[in-house]
Amino acid sequence: MGTELGKYKSCVSARSTNKEILKRSQDGGIVTQLFAYALEEGIIDGAIVAGPGDEPYRPRPFIATTVDELMSARGTKYNISPNVSWIKEATRSYGLDKVGIVGTPCQMQAVRKGQLYPFGWRDVDDKIALAIGIFCMENFPYQSIKQLVEDHAGVSMQSVKKMDIGKGKFWVYTERGATVQLPLKVTHKYEQPGCHVCLDYVANLADVSTGSVGSPDGWSTVFVRTKNGDDIWGKAIAAGCFETKPIDQVKPGLELVSKLANEKISKNQKTVEARATFGVNKALRNPYIKP
Ligand SMILES: Cc1cc2nc3c(=O)[nH]c(=O)nc-3n(C[C@H](O)[C@H](O)[C@H](O)COP(=O)(O)OP(=O)(O)OC[C@H]3O[C@@H](n4cnc5c(N)ncnc54)[C@H](O)[C@@H]3O)c2cc1C
Ligand code: SF4
Repeated sequence: MGTELGKYKSCVSARSTNKEILKRSQDGGIVTQLFAYALEEGIIDGAIVAGPGDEPYRPRPFIATTVDELMSARGTKYNISPNVSWIKEATRSYGLDKVGIVGTPCQMQAVRKGQLYPFGWRDVDDKIALAIGIFCMENFPYQSIKQLVEDHAGVSMQSVKKMDIGKGKFWVYTERGATVQLPLKVTHKYEQPGCHVCLDYVANLADVSTGSVGSPDGWSTVFVRTKNGDDIWGKAIAAGCFETKPIDQVKPGLELVSKLANEKISKNQKTVEARATFGVNKALRNPYIKP
């Protein structure tokens, strides 16, 4: 396994020990549990999360400053939530000195870019106290999720309890206990086009990154990446926040994570390269190289 998984200090399969968190978390409740611990210990003063919006499963990013608020953001919303848009405001009108933020790999890239090249981000760079990344193969516009759930799966958005992409299918679970699955080939045309040039699957730039793939249902795969992440993760483990298992003792384990990461990167790398000869004697911009 090589660079596709990014740099990390350790990797485990884990889940929260808090049953309330697990009731509505997407996987092992790593994001909600780690932020709740960090908030209670004063490691962060608040966290930018994707909370409920004004339509079912349309996320609204906000700054959670209580555990109850963190709880309201549990679960994956498979559409765009511009979490980074709150970073500056968190340090301004909210007066936060230690900001937590969760996001997809591209959002972790935005956070790190903003820290190193802080255009319009005065006084923000040293206030990011815990960046938790979530694995991400692709994302969707809200309208696309609605089409998939309502038209393809035949379920009203109001009755959805959980959505999940895993085991090669898009799953829709309803509050009344029904499960509908769609083959992923149905979902492809709805993907956000910008995702097709994305070369990061497991949030390589986060302090701690987590996702479902690699671990059994109800558990998460967790990469502890930075010194800061390692410090907070170690304290949270010592405080009894998580149950863990060595990643090499769970199935399907890192091999599957690595396979999916490689598939995403090589497919999208081809899209990036194709942009160089997209027009007649004319290229489309490549954000990874200097113009
Ligand atoms: C678009 C998308 C694609 C994903 N693809 C994969 C994948 O291919 N493989 C994989 O293993 N995992 C994937 N995940 C991650 C996975 O679905 C879970 O989010 C992750 O395992 C965290 O679960 P948890 O139980 O620790 O989090 P919870 O404790 O349930 O908390 C979830 C957190 O995620 C945040 N969140 C929810 N939706 C969004 C969003 N749209 N944008 C930003 N933040 C959000 C919420 O703020 C909340 O704090 C994807 C997530 C998203 C949002
Ligand atoms: S695929 Fe990449 S660009 Fe698209 S949401 Fe996921 S991390 Fe962001």
